[in-house]
Amino acid sequence: MDGDLVLVVNSGSSSIKYQLVAPESGTVVAAGLVERIGEDVGAIEHTTDGRTLTDQVTITDHTAGLRLAFEKFAETGHDLAGAGVTAVGHRVVHGGEVFYRPTLVDDRVLATIDELSALAPLHNPANVRGIEAVRTLLPEVPQVAVFDTAFFHGLPDAAKTYAIDAQVAAAHGIRRYGFHGTSHEYVSGCVAEFLGRPAESLKQIVFHLGNGASVSALRGGRPVDTSMGLTPLEGLVMGTRPGDLDPGIVLHLMRTAQLDVNGVDRLLNRRSGLRGMAGVNDFRELRRLIGEGDEAARLAYDVYVHRLRHYLGAYLIELGGVDAITFTAGVGENNPDVRADALAGLSAFGIAVDRDRNTAPERTARRISPPDAKVDVLVVPTNEELAIARAAAALTEKA
Ligand code: ADP
Repeated sequence: MDGDLVLVVNSGSSSIKYQLVAPESGTVVAAGLVERIGEDVGAIEHTTDGRTLTDQVTITDHTAGLRLAFEKFAETGHDLAGAGVTAVGHRVVHGGEVFYRPTLVDDRVLATIDELSALAPLHNPANVRGIEAVRTLLPEVPQVAVFDTAFFHGLPDAAKTYAIDAQVAAAHGIRRYGFHGTSHEYVSGCVAEFLGRPAESLKQIVFHLGNGASVSALRGGRPVDTSMGLTPLEGLVMGTRPGDLDPGIVLHLMRTAQLDVNGVDRLLNRRSGLRGMAGVNDFRELRRLIGEGDEAARLAYDVYVHRLRHYLGAYLIELGGVDAITFTAGVGENNPDVRADALAGLSAFGIAVDRDRNTAPERTARRISPPDAKVDVLVVPTNEELAIARAAAALTEKA
């Protein structure tokens, strides 16, 4: 028996990532990935007790994908339909203006998440399918939606408002919503804990650098700015997205390259960023190409770092100084060059990276600035699944 457990589900258009988590201790009982849903041959990888099961079968839809995952749970002695799972926490990408805290899912909430698909057409429909699948398979277990936008709901007006026609903006819900909120909230909380200082006393800049990437500025534990906007396209250079662009580029392409909405969507969401510039979106590949003297890869890296520094400068000024700068997610946690290059030459601002600390192979939260530096530079592993599990457990305990 595992005690109280939360199943965390992150459902994409053709994939489902899941974890079974003990919310208090953070122990991951099992984790898995269902991929290529709706294709001829789908796949599942399910890891528990240090053992990984894999399977390749046709997976017609999300319910079939989750059913397959549940079979793997049962095969490995964790029967999800039995006692033990007290809640299911779903990562939901867009909460719009409506959802700004973890929310117990009922019919109305589910319908509203679906309605918000206009704001996140690549994500919310998939999130809805994941919730529906769990409702079919675990009808008795409460489900909680945890929104990627929620943490940024209270952004100051000046930071969240786009300088366009105010009526058009109001009519179409156009504002900066921000994403990766669960990660920015979790990591900034870890920073306060690591430093042994109350979050209320800290000015922080958090770089979440994964395949998607965003940076936030926080004062007193609350975000005052973030780089992603109405959609996750804005801001930093990402694996396959460009981040900030002159919107005139879109108009120009529609006029001169005959790209329609879907063409622009594909270009900006899948064929831009590192992949667009260098042909690869994985940072390890990018480093390998740079090592081989590939000039496009070098340029892509330089553009990536240039954008990081651009935001760092902006947020330093917005905050009027900073106490802690933190790197997290796949690239932020694992790539010392990015961290060193993003912060190079800033000793005049009290910002420096210690070479040995930066390249040490540790995996836990750590300081990479020199002992006497004015600004703490940290690497903190993110754990969105744990944050979602805790949010779901907290809400369902109260209910
Ligand atoms: P997402 O959750 O957005 O898919 P991740 O946070 O998993 O993204 O980050 C993916 C990125 O992190 C990839 O570009 C990958 O190359 C990079 N990454 C992951 N692990 C490592 C590692 N050990 N060394 C260097 N880069 C890594």
